[in-house]
Amino acid sequence: MDHINIGFIGLGNMGAGMCLNIIKNGYKVTVHDINKDSAVSALEMGAVWANSPKELAQKSDVIFTSLPGPKEVEAVSVGEQSILDGIDEGSIWVDLSTSSPNLIQALHETFASKGAKVMDAPVSGGVTGAESGRLAIMVGGDEETFNNLKSVLESFGDRVTYTGPIGTGTICKLMNNAFQYGMEVLLSESLTLGVKAGVNTQKLVECLRNGGGGRGNILNVTFPQTYLKGKFDPPRFKLTGAQKDVSLALELARQHDVPMASATHTYNEMTSAINRGWGDLDSRVSLLLQEERAGNIEVRITDEDDVS
Ligand code: NAD
Repeated sequence: MDHINIGFIGLGNMGAGMCLNIIKNGYKVTVHDINKDSAVSALEMGAVWANSPKELAQKSDVIFTSLPGPKEVEAVSVGEQSILDGIDEGSIWVDLSTSSPNLIQALHETFASKGAKVMDAPVSGGVTGAESGRLAIMVGGDEETFNNLKSVLESFGDRVTYTGPIGTGTICKLMNNAFQYGMEVLLSESLTLGVKAGVNTQKLVECLRNGGGGRGNILNVTFPQTYLKGKFDPPRFKLTGAQKDVSLALELARQHDVPMASATHTYNEMTSAINRGWGDLDSRVSLLLQEERAGNIEVRITDEDDVS
């Protein structure tokens, strides 16, 4: 796929950096944006302007979009002068936006009736990642099409994962963001209490960075060795011990009048799990309560596909 014509729609905070990296990797690129000013750098680097998504699609074998959300994705793909109006049989539309899995699945069907492929490939890594080419790209859709696209995707992302059928890339991205923003809320509880209790902010941040959570141990070490394998015995750290730690933090929170909704929820989860008789097992055993509430969903990996 080295001599393909690329189209790129949506050169905003994320799209501009991604598009420039595609151009730098030697691809011929046509661009379009509702605001032409945002395409200036790409045009200076040799990209060609198209007046509409339809015109861009007519000139492109692979069309990328990086748009604010579902409303814009729908308008550009099937609205007036849309990608659908211009796309050829065999061409591919790859949506990099964070959008709706249901929408992209429906659009996949619509485009299939024209013989065109649709992939969802949302990204993570922010503007800095878009500029430096260090983005995670989560790609759903036909696997053969993914394999054909891989070299183009690697021109602007350093961690490219094929996630399964259409829509699964978006599901992974939404789960990533729910987790990431939830962590930020939790972190703000620890930071406000720590500072109010008298610790220097820089020292507190340094300690949290250097601790297990800050080093990424949850996803890379502890989960793969316990929860994701369903292994809670022997415990790496007993649930009663972990509950003691959260309980002491909440005692400090009461002393300093700092509300800690997420930490309180954590304490309640741990206490419920202890009341099930799980106190001597590994602390992550309390996560089984969420699996139960989710409708007995088991989240497990085997030793073979271990991610640690
Ligand atoms: P942005 O608003 O900066 O860029 C969107 C671009 O789309 C703009 O240039 C805008 O003019 C253009 N656009 C809007 N409607 C259009 C239309 N109808 N036709 C043509 N062009 C149109 O947004 P962004 O921050 O670059 O985000 C793009 C996508 O990437 C979003 O879905 C966002 O959730 C996701 N994302 C953003 C970040 C981030 O840190 N900014 C990180 C990861 C993912």
